[in-house]
Parts: sequence; C-alpha cells; structure tokens
Amino acid sequence: MKYCLDCDWHATAADEPDQHDRSRAAIDHHVETGHTIDSSESLVRPTTPDGLGPILARELVPSSD
Ligand SMILES: [Zn+2]
Repeated sequence: MKYCLDCDWHATAADEPDQHDRSRAAIDHHVETGHTIDSSESLVRPTTPDGLGPILARELVPSSD
C-alpha cells in the first residue's frame, strides 16, 4: 500500500487494484498537498518514527507492493 506521512490518505490494492494508478494517485496527492508519500509491503500503516525526513524519490521508483 501507499500512504501519506502527513495525513490519513492511503491507497491500497483494495482501493485501487492497479499499481500504476496507486503510484499516480500518490504522486497526485503529493503534488496537490505537498505531503510526503511512503509505501509499505505490509497491509497496515506503520508508525512513523519522529524526525524521519521526507523521502519521496523512492516513491517514484516502481515497487512491488
Ligand atoms: Zn496527505
């Protein structure tokens, strides 16, 4: 799944079956809000460690989620 570190936005396979569409939706959310998107192989949203800096670049690389 892909999820936002700044709000409750997320895209899961259940919401959006196509991984390409999930990636595009995540990028759209970043562009629209400036929020930081992360992705995870797990089905649950992991907790965000304090002080973790924005890392968007890896979101632009295809992942296997
Ligand atoms: Zn957000």
